[in-house]
Amino acid sequence: MKIAIEEHLKCTEFPRVGVAVAKSGKLLATGYRGETKSVHAERVAIRKLTDEQIKGATVYTTLEPCVELHTDQKTSSCAQLLIDSGVNEVVIGVLDPNGTIYSQGYRKLLENNINVSFFNRKLRAAVEEESFDCGNIHKIYGCGKRRVPVVHSGNEIEVQFSETDERTIDIKWATLQSTHGCVDLHGCNGSVLVAAGARNFGDISDPTVFRFPSHYTRMRKGDIAIVKPSSSTFYVLIQVVEIFDNDIIFKWEVRNDK
Ligand SMILES: [Zn+2]
Repeated sequence: MKIAIEEHLKCTEFPRVGVAVAKSGKLLATGYRGETKSVHAERVAIRKLTDEQIKGATVYTTLEPCVELHTDQKTSSCAQLLIDSGVNEVVIGVLDPNGTIYSQGYRKLLENNINVSFFNRKLRAAVEEESFDCGNIHKIYGCGKRRVPVVHSGNEIEVQFSETDERTIDIKWATLQSTHGCVDLHGCNGSVLVAAGARNFGDISDPTVFRFPSHYTRMRKGDIAIVKPSSSTFYVLIQVVEIFDNDIIFKWEVRNDK
């Protein structure tokens, strides 16, 4: 596990992924994402081994192996590669926070009778800290656009006014219903307003013109909401840009409440 983490730290781009392959307690090969251009870390490591060597081996990977996203993908996914290689066990650092992949690689390995386990909690935290460029997926600043997973009990996000201004507002995305094209945005009591009719942030000059505050709103693509807790001296505008099966893209912009 530690060798896989050393490998992932060699990556110059995000997400970082490092792999170590071992059998009978002996290290056979390592690999990291970017070691060979556009080749995933699992494949980089496995290519260094013979079919005989990889068979029955244990593969340590800092990030959950990927799954096929399109049926016309040229190279097979890493999960499929691991299955086809006949590995005995896969030890995963963290599950992929990308909602399109999240837990699917893990599930696919299990379904194909591969033993799967995870890094211990301390090593998981180390991996999590270094793997993704956005660092904390639960914190956003100022204004921007972000793709976030919305699964199970939802995704709590802290909106901080700026890197230097530490005022924050808590929001939460929950109950994504992609088949119905909607997702719920939660704020604290009475902090959520729907900017009915507005199509972009520039349309909103004064958020207090909108009525019917609630603790949440159900949003569709393009909808804009305003979150302003009564105690807060700023508010955040939020627009749903795209809705996928397990994740969404949203835009946000903070403004001082004048
Ligand atoms: Zn992969």
